[in-house]
Amino acid sequence: MTVRAESMIGVVPRPAQDVELFLSEGGGRRVKRRYTIRHAWPDSGELDLDVLLHGHGPGSTWGTAARPGDAVEFQGPRGKLELTAADWHLLIGDESALPAIAAVCEALPSAERALALIEVGDARDELPLPLSAQARWVHRGNAAMGTPALLGAAVDALALPPGTGHAYLMGETRSMVALRALLETRGIAHDAIFVKGYWSVARPDRVAGQSPMISA
Ligand SMILES: Cc1cc2nc3c(=O)[nH]c(=O)nc-3n(C[C@H](O)[C@H](O)[C@H](O)COP(=O)(O)OP(=O)(O)OC[C@H]3O[C@@H](n4cnc5c(N)ncnc54)[C@H](O)[C@@H]3O)c2cc1C
Repeated sequence: MTVRAESMIGVVPRPAQDVELFLSEGGGRRVKRRYTIRHAWPDSGELDLDVLLHGHGPGSTWGTAARPGDAVEFQGPRGKLELTAADWHLLIGDESALPAIAAVCEALPSAERALALIEVGDARDELPLPLSAQARWVHRGNAAMGTPALLGAAVDALALPPGTGHAYLMGETRSMVALRALLETRGIAHDAIFVKGYWSVARPDRVAGQSPMISA
């Protein structure tokens, strides 16, 4: 999906920054949904977004239905992820974080190693990452989305490289918070872990119509 705005001409976003789309949900209520800028084209003001089609929410519905020439309002770039120099970088997330993980891997200096642990449904959901990145794909199969179980097992099995490391956790909010605790038990300092909740598993107690987005 490519979106374009005059105001984006000349803008060079930082790796993994995103835009916030203004969409409408059933009943016409305006809602915001955030999508990572996978590539920016500052000459034309175009931004490439990868939108996961996962259900019937406003974002997913827009990703399914949008056609070339349609209008969509958005704001940005936004996002606080900063790349900190380190010997290695560990990127962990699910499908929603794939654009961010790919953008970070591309932006890292060649001397800094990128390790990625990414949970996807199956091999068909894997997307190319820069060759310099060492990717481990974790297939969910029929297991539930939005739990830390599979990525947690992958973290447990991971041999962390020597030297200084920085970790980035992006995906289902509670899962990412649980994985931060696990990374801390592996010796990665709290301050060396960036955590961002990208979406939240719907809770039964949540009132219909309220946004499920939570930011960690
Ligand atoms: C900074 C940031 C960057 C993001 N970048 C991207 C990106 O590049 N690509 C992308 O696809 N998403 C990205 N996301 C996540 C995306 O904004 C959310 O998934 C959003 O909730 C999707 O909106 P929706 O209207 O489709 O679903 P919602 O109306 O928000 O939710 C409807 C239902 O779908 C479930 N749900 C929501 N998201 C997911 C999901 N990812 N997987 C499974 N179930 C889900 C909810 O729990 C709920 O039950 C990003 C989020 C943030 C905060």
